[in-house]
Amino acid sequence: MTISVLTIPQSFVDEITQHSLEDYPNEACGIIAAESGKPCNLYRMRNVEASPYRYSMDPKELYLTYKDIEQDHNWEVYAIYHSHTHSEAYPSATDVRLATWPEAFYILISLKDKKNPVLRGFKILDSKIEEAEIVIEE
Ligand SMILES: [Zn+2]
Repeated sequence: MTISVLTIPQSFVDEITQHSLEDYPNEACGIIAAESGKPCNLYRMRNVEASPYRYSMDPKELYLTYKDIEQDHNWEVYAIYHSHTHSEAYPSATDVRLATWPEAFYILISLKDKKNPVLRGFKILDSKIEEAEIVIEE
């Protein structure tokens, strides 16, 4: 079995952590774009649910972000991240049900222990969860 490798710059890990802490106790979410498979830009997205238990991106903001990534820059959607403030960094049943980007990574960050955030990456294909190996680059 091949394991997907999720490459992510340390600065993006810091940004995801920072964003998640700022939105705590609500879930935070965002998108990472890549150029030729190399992460190049991070978009903080608004969680319109403003909830500690779920997240939902604003359709208009999502549309504009997607347009910026695909049309304006010719990048691709590399990863979707969101935080879990009360549970493990593992996709929930809802996350799996709503996973609509088979080619993208799903990054989960858990703030269950706020002092020690845990970040994990997954591919979600046909309702199957496959954990990715994370390589953090300087
Ligand atoms: Zn979730």
